[in-house]
Amino acid sequence: MLKTFTGGIRLAGHKEATANSSIEIPSLPEQVIIPLIQYGGRLCEPLVKTGERVKAGQLIGFSQDSLSVAVHSSISGKVARIGEFAHPDFEKARAILIESDGLDEKAREVSEKDYQSLSKEELLNRIRNAGVVGMGGASFPTHVKLNPPRNKKVNFFVVNMFECEPYITTDYRLAIERCEEILSGVNIFLKILEVETAYIAIGANKKEALDILKEKTAKFERIKIAALKPKFPQGEEKCLIKAVLNKEVPRGKLPYEAGAIVCNPQTIITVYEAVCLGKPLYEKVITVTGKGIKKPGNLKVRIGTLLKDIIEYSGGVFEEEMEVIFGGPMMGRAQTDINVPVVKGTSGIIFLPAKSLDLSKESACIRCGRCVEVCPVRLLPLEINKLVKNKKWERLNAYHISECMLCGACAYVCPSKIPLVQRLKLGQKITKRLQKK
Ligand code: SF4
Ligand code: SF4
Repeated sequence: MLKTFTGGIRLAGHKEATANSSIEIPSLPEQVIIPLIQYGGRLCEPLVKTGERVKAGQLIGFSQDSLSVAVHSSISGKVARIGEFAHPDFEKARAILIESDGLDEKAREVSEKDYQSLSKEELLNRIRNAGVVGMGGASFPTHVKLNPPRNKKVNFFVVNMFECEPYITTDYRLAIERCEEILSGVNIFLKILEVETAYIAIGANKKEALDILKEKTAKFERIKIAALKPKFPQGEEKCLIKAVLNKEVPRGKLPYEAGAIVCNPQTIITVYEAVCLGKPLYEKVITVTGKGIKKPGNLKVRIGTLLKDIIEYSGGVFEEEMEVIFGGPMMGRAQTDINVPVVKGTSGIIFLPAKSLDLSKESACIRCGRCVEVCPVRLLPLEINKLVKNKKWERLNAYHISECMLCGACAYVCPSKIPLVQRLKLGQKITKRLQKK
């Protein structure tokens, strides 16, 4: 019996269009827009001025706030403007527009292959200064994640290679094409966290990647493979910890409370590059796919590349009316502006023709209980929905609304087509606002 968590749903993978496509590097973009905020921390201060020349990998934004990470230029060229631009998560945000000089000159990279002599603090500083955040979507600063409170003992490191969102194949391709770098990175994580064992969690159906991982990890005693049952949202940290380690992260707590830290493979490669090659985070692999795009693929793009340039590189779109999602179709965000840039947390761009979307109208709840059965964190979405509709905000905490990971499994199975995720999101937003008062 393959390990898994309780609840969840089976989804069609839709990964065949890109699973066998090697990672491509598109031509350099003529311009990039690099937001000064990549995660919910503070906005970075720009360190460059309009008209200034920059190189790829040069630090261009920084904040002293501990939850912020450095921002780097992803191309060489000239700073054309600093101002408000479209952002995939915040609609608009302060950002730096850089026009390419076509030279792709790199800022000096400090090589430090022998990281063993570096202290934990030095390694964490290196990771923070390289601007590393979780690249699976959440964008949480990696130096913060790797530094849990001293009184919390972390025993396990879990590599989240599950990639449970349909369509996305970046981690799968990275496991096949860059397995050695992932394993080098895992050893850096083991040193920083001072833990003995790392588990690589992957779907049992991802055969090619699984075979490569098994072969390459054979010489590492401390790195083990956990092949899990394909299910959604198995890639969510709490679900993964339950499946791999059979441990529950207590309600309202972070994974280290269950003795584990989870990171995705692209973040691990980026940490390896930051520590061993002195390379900051300024490019990433994304999956560009869906029935609406002519040439699907896995692309290594510069941070700040605009959606319109990715569409052009990918041969254009088939339909005019299209839903464009940054991230997976279950938890990603629909975009409305073709000038929106790829940010550090963008895992993919999905193009779905509008006619393929289910736009059925919501009807009354029939209390079938399906939403409860599939909820991986055992919430009562039907009750929360009722409270949100009736604006009973003060009662939402009793239903643990902050625990909802907005995975969408409940909405997916709801026969009444109730927009449960939108209601849960609204409930979370208002509860947070009320708590701040
Ligand atoms: S799945 Fe939909 S209809 Fe069924 S109980 Fe939940 S909210 Fe109601
Ligand atoms: S969206 Fe929230 S309530 Fe719905 S299944 Fe996921 S975690 Fe549970």
